[in-house]
Amino acid sequence: MNIVTYPAEILREKAEPIEEINDDICRTADEMLELMYESEGIGLAAPQIGWSKRLIVIDVKDELGDEKVFINPALVNQEGTFLSDEGCLSFPDITGKVMRSETVEVVAFNLKGEKLKIKAGGLLGVVFQHEIDHLNGVLFIDKMTPGSSLANAKKLKEFERIYKRVQAL
Ligand SMILES: [Zn+2]
Repeated sequence: MNIVTYPAEILREKAEPIEEINDDICRTADEMLELMYESEGIGLAAPQIGWSKRLIVIDVKDELGDEKVFINPALVNQEGTFLSDEGCLSFPDITGKVMRSETVEVVAFNLKGEKLKIKAGGLLGVVFQHEIDHLNGVLFIDKMTPGSSLANAKKLKEFERIYKRVQAL
């Protein structure tokens, strides 16, 4: 399992809902968590491993207890605005400022099939918004402030150039 990097097409696809939680799903979620920890990330969405399903893993220290896997997550309420500093495992070396909601309410299922309703703000709220965006093919570069977009334009072009060259091999 590897992390898919920008501008791979799968990162732009709308991921499919998970219909049934089986052993395969549980195993993949475990592997995603491992990969996330190895990569020193705090969130990872299934499309980032090349799997177009609505599943995300999140571990923000001391929050959410043992819940780390969220299936078919949806934002059901968003309030306020919050300017966050973000990075993304699919964009090595890129960080930027992104306008987010200050607090969100998320509905999702855990691996036991239990329905969760979570109210999250601050960093955790941002991670939920960032990861759920991935499931809709939306990337943080789409929502960056004009200043951050400009600051990263050259690096993004370079990613696109390298990707095209690899595709052509
Ligand atoms: Zn990301």
